[in-house]
Amino acid sequence: MSSRIHLLSPRLANQIAAGEVVERPANIVKELVENALDAGADRIEIDAEQGGVKLLRIRDNGHGIGKDDLPLALSRHATSKITTLDDLEAVGSLGFRGEALASISSVTRLTLTSRAEQAEEAWQVTAEGRDMVASVAPAAHPQGTTIEVRDLFFNTPARRKFLRTEKTEFSHLEETVKRLALSRYDVGFTLRHNGKVIHAVRPASRDIDREKRVAQLLNPTFMDSAVHIEREAAGLTLQGWVGLPTFSRSQADMQYFFVNGRVVRDKLVVHAIKQAYRDVLYHGRHPAFALYLWLDPKLVDVNVHPTKHEVRFRDGRLVHDFLFRTLHKALADVRPDAQLAPGG
Ligand code: ADP
Ligand code: MG
Repeated sequence: MSSRIHLLSPRLANQIAAGEVVERPANIVKELVENALDAGADRIEIDAEQGGVKLLRIRDNGHGIGKDDLPLALSRHATSKITTLDDLEAVGSLGFRGEALASISSVTRLTLTSRAEQAEEAWQVTAEGRDMVASVAPAAHPQGTTIEVRDLFFNTPARRKFLRTEKTEFSHLEETVKRLALSRYDVGFTLRHNGKVIHAVRPASRDIDREKRVAQLLNPTFMDSAVHIEREAAGLTLQGWVGLPTFSRSQADMQYFFVNGRVVRDKLVVHAIKQAYRDVLYHGRHPAFALYLWLDPKLVDVNVHPTKHEVRFRDGRLVHDFLFRTLHKALADVRPDAQLAPGG
């Protein structure tokens, strides 16, 4: 064993970092779709083959990447989204770590094709799990970006073993796409698996279209037994739909919560919602909801974990009380005979 200290090669450093963000195809889709959203895309197409392990292709019509920036896009800690610590504290973009593309390209065969806004031509870089020496070649592409990722973990067999069946991997991937599609009504999403369209939702601007999208992605009958929530207080805004007890579930599988447009799974949030339903839901039943919380980005820290699922509220108690009170009241306000029905 060598005892001298040396720097890890960029490839190995990236592969280690990839362990944190890339566990399965669903994680890659999340990162790539978030990049497309950050680029201002309003149409995002996702193609997956064999659960996303064989191929993932994410195509967007965002602002694209200029030729000179292309190799940098694949480098670690390279981002166009923040420059200073102040930016980090008020980060509005979904990405900011500058890590995803470097990590993903270190464990896949990645091709990135992009045409920047107002650019005459499109350019392409490829990286096959090697050090970040991608060459730039001309390509054909409309404005926007397509990233193709093939053969996940082809060079890290130990990680490959942890992948599950095609069906399981695809269901994770589909869930991820659902969450993203719920997070941004103004963006059209298409998801195909092995060439078959699984979800296709168009950009929605009117309330009725939003409702349709939620119903389309959650369950066609959800809206029939849901209460619309809209409340603003103390700098917090909550909007969305919560299912009546009649629409309760045997699993917590239809719970969507977004903080400033970001998909979040947070203990404090879960607890507040659970409390609000405590008196109206039978033991062992779980509510269904799609809720959107908005607050000053300075009052919430999203830089807690690389996957950014967790957040830290500056004033957790305020958020908890606000959620609890709003939902508790909304549920208490519905007709009493709609309550406590056993549901399906
Ligand atoms: P981050 O999103 O944290 O900045 P990434 O590794 O995901 O880091 O992406 C690196 C950079 O590549 C981004 O900051 C952005 O400038 C550029 N980029 C990645 N994907 C896209 C895309 N779909 N459209 C435009 N630019 C992109
Ligand atoms: Mg990113």
